[in-house]
Amino acid sequence: MVVQNENRKIKICNSTLLIMKKYIQKKNRDYEAGGILIGRENAGNTNLVIEYITEPMSKDKRSRHKFLRQDIGHIDFFEKLYNENEGIYAYIGEWHTHPEKIPHYSFIDANNWRRIGKKMKSEKQYHVIVGIQEIGIWEYDMITKKIVQIDSIKWEDLLENENTD
Ligand SMILES: [Zn+2]
Repeated sequence: MVVQNENRKIKICNSTLLIMKKYIQKKNRDYEAGGILIGRENAGNTNLVIEYITEPMSKDKRSRHKFLRQDIGHIDFFEKLYNENEGIYAYIGEWHTHPEKIPHYSFIDANNWRRIGKKMKSEKQYHVIVGIQEIGIWEYDMITKKIVQIDSIKWEDLLENENTD
């Protein structure tokens, strides 16, 4: 999946999409899930590739309408990748599921993204919400403090193109 944002392309690798897909809240009893997005900037341009994500871990707080990333394992996973690859990988943002067909960010999500933005060195973070029919991606800009939706794509369209990238 590649989305275009101003002068930057953002690629979310199929391997990570397939992990997120496992957690779509299709059934009434399915809890929210989430983790962090890890990727790198392509050498020579500003394009971004999201290559790894973490999955829900035992100390995270989960319910039907809430995912709170609290397990230290998410950051440990990122730090291990970072150290083993001479720092080419970066924290890109958060992902979590919503029990709605077309995902929208909540007031709590916006506050969380702003709080994360304050702590980051990079100017922008990208956050994903996995809905039942579509997957949405938002940019948070720590300079303007604005949240802008970049794209929302139907799962069925993503899966049709599964072999192309
Ligand atoms: Zn949310």
